[in-house]
Amino acid sequence: MVSAVWAVVPVKRLAEAKRRLSAALGETREEFAYLLACRTLDVLRSAGLFAGIIVVTPDPRVAAAARARGAVVVDDADSSLNQACVLGLDAAAKQGASLAVLLPSDLATLTAEALSRLVQNYSRLRNQQNRAIVLVRCKEGTGTNLVVLEPRTSFQPSFGPDSFSKHVREAGPDAHELCEPTVSFDIDTPEDLEVLRARFEEDHEAGAMASLLRGARTSPATTAWASAQALKAASFTDLAHRAGALRDSGYGTLVSYSPKVFLPLTQLCRDSCHYCTFAQAPRRLKSPYLSIEEAVSIATEGARLGCKEALFTLGERPELRYRAARDWLTAHGFESTLHYLSQAAAAVRDRTGLLPHINAGCMTAEEMAMLRPACASMGLMLESSAARLCEKGGPHYGSPDKEPALRLATIAEAGRQRIPFTTGILIGIGETRGERIEALLAIRELHERYGHIQEIIVQNFVPKRGTIMADAPAADAEELLWSIAAARVLFGPAMSIQAPPNLSPAPLPSLVQAGINDWGGVSPLTPDFVNPEAPWPELEHLREQTEAAGKTLVQRLTVYPKYAKSPEVWIDAGMRRAVLEQSDGDALGREDAWRTGRSTDLPASFATRYGRIESTRVDILLREIADFGAEHLNADAVAELFRARGSDLREVCEAADRLRARVNGDTATYVVNRNINYTNICGYHCSFCAFSKGTRKREGAERGYLLDIAEIVERTLEAGSRGATEVCLQGGIHPSFTGDTYLEIVRALKAADPRMHVHAFSPLEVWHGAETLAMPLRDYLSLLKSEGLGSLPGTAAEILVDEVRAILCPDKLRTEEWLEVIETAHEVGLPTTSTMMFGHVDRYGDWALHLLRLRDLQRRTQGLTEFVPLPFVAHEAPLYRRGRARPGPTLREAILVHAVARLVLHPHVENIQASWVKMGRAGMREALRAGANDLGGTLMNESITRAAGATHGQEMTQSDMLSLAASLGRPAVQRTTLYRSLSELHAREESGRVATASSGCTC
Ligand code: SF4
Repeated sequence: MVSAVWAVVPVKRLAEAKRRLSAALGETREEFAYLLACRTLDVLRSAGLFAGIIVVTPDPRVAAAARARGAVVVDDADSSLNQACVLGLDAAAKQGASLAVLLPSDLATLTAEALSRLVQNYSRLRNQQNRAIVLVRCKEGTGTNLVVLEPRTSFQPSFGPDSFSKHVREAGPDAHELCEPTVSFDIDTPEDLEVLRARFEEDHEAGAMASLLRGARTSPATTAWASAQALKAASFTDLAHRAGALRDSGYGTLVSYSPKVFLPLTQLCRDSCHYCTFAQAPRRLKSPYLSIEEAVSIATEGARLGCKEALFTLGERPELRYRAARDWLTAHGFESTLHYLSQAAAAVRDRTGLLPHINAGCMTAEEMAMLRPACASMGLMLESSAARLCEKGGPHYGSPDKEPALRLATIAEAGRQRIPFTTGILIGIGETRGERIEALLAIRELHERYGHIQEIIVQNFVPKRGTIMADAPAADAEELLWSIAAARVLFGPAMSIQAPPNLSPAPLPSLVQAGINDWGGVSPLTPDFVNPEAPWPELEHLREQTEAAGKTLVQRLTVYPKYAKSPEVWIDAGMRRAVLEQSDGDALGREDAWRTGRSTDLPASFATRYGRIESTRVDILLREIADFGAEHLNADAVAELFRARGSDLREVCEAADRLRARVNGDTATYVVNRNINYTNICGYHCSFCAFSKGTRKREGAERGYLLDIAEIVERTLEAGSRGATEVCLQGGIHPSFTGDTYLEIVRALKAADPRMHVHAFSPLEVWHGAETLAMPLRDYLSLLKSEGLGSLPGTAAEILVDEVRAILCPDKLRTEEWLEVIETAHEVGLPTTSTMMFGHVDRYGDWALHLLRLRDLQRRTQGLTEFVPLPFVAHEAPLYRRGRARPGPTLREAILVHAVARLVLHPHVENIQASWVKMGRAGMREALRAGANDLGGTLMNESITRAAGATHGQEMTQSDMLSLAASLGRPAVQRTTLYRSLSELHAREESGRVATASSGCTC
């Protein structure tokens, strides 16, 4: 640790501070700037890290606050910010500082932990080279929010536009960028204020700053008006930079699309918009409506091609205009088009698994309530809030449903009914820029009230032959780009902004640069019926164009992640199963159909070669790991690694593979062992478990059984005769089992075969054993050890997060109890493995916490022999069958868990094991290329995963192990449970010592 660290904080005169927030904060602007500065000083003081704080300010009130907090104050007499920084660094040097942390006073989410990590990382880096300068960017990516440097270093601060790249140039090879989101978040704009206010509300933050922000909320009209005025006057060039930065702040390097089929349920419409070719007269249609069988057939083909969304688009209430529509509906027994739609959407959902998204025009509250159970989301383009466009001569003349107030009422009703909703504007139909802004503000106002707008579409008008507006000019590229940027600026970083790629008059990368993060629905099967002249781009082309903009193309669902992650609020109970089935762990679309325990081949999508995207969040984290290791990573950073997609996925796997080669070499290891699951009768009620049979369990194909001790001994002797060095024993918690049962089992096994390593009893069984004997855990574990127990499987861990355990295994051990058993086992000399079962109801943040909890434990005990990722086998799991869990992880996620575990658990856990029962041989090969070094056990009688629906067999022979490793050009070697060589084991046996513990058991 560096001694004498000083913080240097330049603070402007309050009268000059945060002028860009004037409209949003009014007279409270100065007070807000003052409170921000005080908060920053308080965090610096509480960090316990700094020998002193220097505040450079001409402002008397800030100076008084700084002195009250023990800071040294330097008056810079209103000099420039860069001059103030130089003065501050000089003052720090004079105070004897060996290191200075230079930061502004508006880092509203700064934490002491982040500061501490930065200084520690600096120290590690400085130990490796003569000079180092650590930099943290602002959230927009172009500015600098913090610099760590030696104060006497020659370094010219260049704060202002693009300061980050200037600072990197100035620092040269000494520059090191670190990622600390709490440091990157500064307050510059009204949108930043919104983010901060939302965060305060979420955290129930009290205090002066929170209440000031709450008060500022009373004048949204003023803010909106100010934004609108500023936007109208701005050019695209003015907006582009800011819009792109906001998008990056919300979506990083991901740009999404929804793979969909387009289902035009009816092309009849009672409206007559002057630009529309979708609406047709009955005489031009084969039938007024698509039949349900036709809709299901199209959707089935779409599902086969990987689509996830069924987009139902239809005209507005055609039965009010056309007899043909009325007759068809009557003949088929439907009261209205919307009643028919509700049945058609439910059929597509139930028979194809696609998620319906409904674009059915204006609706009443009753109609929306009727449709909600059959769709994951709905949409209605506001198009424009200018009522004058409905007047004679306007494009909406003759279209009663295009009345803006009516459309806004439908959008508001969707909010009241908690329906994730898509809307947007159509540009170039005669509206002004000011009217576009008004439309966007009207949508924003509803979103602020209900929080239900998931995306804003900015669609450009394209004239079509045969329409009244055939000769009207199309919206040009400049207007489209300006409108996208304006929407992004008005809605901030979190809102999804979409522009359809098939209509764009501008090159696709420029739309990304303008601020979009989504291409909307793209179909590999059906044309765009609304714009039939403009085919969807090929997905490969879209991926290339996205990469040309420096982004990665990803699939999403029709319902956006924020809403899919809170299904009890936003998704009707009837839709939740279908949404889970299509979701990955971040609630984005599953990129493959790979299934744990069942898939034998790798999905074709896994072989996609993505272009390298640099400076992503994952890229920065990997550079940090390369420089400092992963010891300092917190749960947010680890969760970010699980989000690696595209080229980031490859980078994470390669980093893990390099580390594996350094730690373990190229040899893959395995253990010859046998699984003995002595009973499948269990009194617990784990919702994921297909193995157990009990009074309240669903009876499966396998009946309840209980092996007696003689049978367990016989199986052990048989395993020994086949070369096994280990038996792995676990089972259900049979009502007749007590602590004595487990003691008797070990005693009998060791008496029959003293050389056999007994790897047995999950932490739950140990807990149960100790409890039934009313014995302290430590004593019971010591007793098991003295009877010959060699080690414990670290199973029953599932996910070490109590909120997740409450769903998976509500009556099983809590996180702390599981950790207590394992830690106590290590303390009495019983090593254990560790596991994580993932891909069900969990999220990446849960996986991160799980790994960090194991890492913390291992730092204390060093008793974990290995970590075994156990991807969830869903097929027969009750939780999945009830529609309450995802169908296991995707292959990307399964591989990533091996890779991230390798990086994050290093150097504490040396062995990462891949489970052939779950991963299959092809998946094993990928895991071995992503950080895994161990193939697990031969198992002989694997039955728990098989009961859950896995089909990879019950045994993997030694020659299978050898050929698996050989297919990667790597040798495979048999090991003992404790990762010793067999020759070492034999030497120990000969010297009369009994080996103790670790395993290949992955039950
Ligand atoms: S996971 Fe174990 S404790 Fe839970 S029900 Fe299955 S056998 Fe019983």
